[in-house]
Amino acid sequence: MDAFSLQRADDIDAAIAAAQQPGAAFIGGGTNLLDLMKGGVAHPLKLIDITRIAALGNIETLPDGGLRIGALVRNSDAANHALVRTRYPLLTQALLAGASPQLRNMATVGGNLMQRTRCAYFYDTAFAQCNKRAPGSGCAAREGFNRMHAILGASAQCVAVNPSDMSVALAALDATVQVRGPRSARAIPIAQFHRLPADRPDQDTTLAPGELITSVDLPPPAFSDHTHYLKLRDRASYAFALVSAAVALQLDGQRVRAARIALGGVAHKPWRASRAEQHLAGHTLDAATLRSAAAAELAQAQPLSGNTFKVELAQRAIVRATMLAAGSPVTHISGINGTSGTGERA
Ligand SMILES: Cc1cc2nc3c(=O)[nH]c(=O)nc-3n(C[C@H](O)[C@H](O)[C@H](O)COP(=O)(O)OP(=O)(O)OC[C@H]3O[C@@H](n4cnc5c(N)ncnc54)[C@H](O)[C@@H]3O)c2cc1C
Repeated sequence: MDAFSLQRADDIDAAIAAAQQPGAAFIGGGTNLLDLMKGGVAHPLKLIDITRIAALGNIETLPDGGLRIGALVRNSDAANHALVRTRYPLLTQALLAGASPQLRNMATVGGNLMQRTRCAYFYDTAFAQCNKRAPGSGCAAREGFNRMHAILGASAQCVAVNPSDMSVALAALDATVQVRGPRSARAIPIAQFHRLPADRPDQDTTLAPGELITSVDLPPPAFSDHTHYLKLRDRASYAFALVSAAVALQLDGQRVRAARIALGGVAHKPWRASRAEQHLAGHTLDAATLRSAAAAELAQAQPLSGNTFKVELAQRAIVRATMLAAGSPVTHISGINGTSGTGERA
């Protein structure tokens, strides 16, 4: 690990002022940044410890009935807060699907939003090729071991995926990320916060250097009654998603008034499944409608040599998570792409 200095910031202004120097980085729980530093992937010259800024640690109701979750709220505290559990159960489910209890006790909401990809070629500096770590060097994953990688929205330069579970739920819930810079504050809709890689895969987000995330704001709860976060992974716990689906529904009986669906593990950013949402709106939830909605979303998929299976897995995730969100008894989900599968209530 390279040498670095550490500065503790007591308030937001001090943190932002300290962050204007080249090579400065905020540190929250440190559960991602310290790993990257120890692995020689990140080389900050100066860490700004923001964990003592009390103003960033609150969860409070907004005047419009929404909820503000401070950037320093630990993932465990956010997941278990009474207002989150009751009004935004999708967020609780997604947070509790991530990492381990110990990590969730340390990890902050701001750090979770900013966590970097788990692409093995990004983490392993023995590989010279990684456009995200060393811009212009190439992408070893594109023709390499790419089972975990993107099937949607990737570019020639990068096929990495965003690993955050929390961010997938935030995408479905239409959250807003509040940030402060040296001159002004701004609100970034979650859909515009994370980026697709295009020709700048080194940039994961639209946050400018030196800007501080102060909170995540949730709109008034309109999708609390029918939600489900489904995370599909190689191990039952303590593993990143191969595919995940965050689903929130407004229902009139079995008819969908509105659907919010986001996918994780499939793209460089949480993937809002707008095509599937449009297919479901106004329709009764039956197997054929669900299958065609999922197929419409994944029609645009471009799998890599090692992850063709994700195209079908993502469709099944949409179907199953939507049925579970609706409270439908999932007995038999017949063929997606000509195959069949059986599921039971979780
Ligand atoms: C073994 C392991 C398993 C994991 N499994 C999962 C999983 O299954 N699902 C999942 O979603 N996550 C998982 N994680 C990732 C974990 O959720 C993240 O490491 C954590 O959320 C990062 O939060 P942090 O506060 O520790 O961030 P830090 O490590 O402190 O910071 C991460 C980045 O965010 C920046 N940052 C922090 N706070 C702010 C702020 N307020 N404003 C601007 N920038 C900021 C930092 O500069 C840094 O670049 C896992 C991690 C580990 C180590």
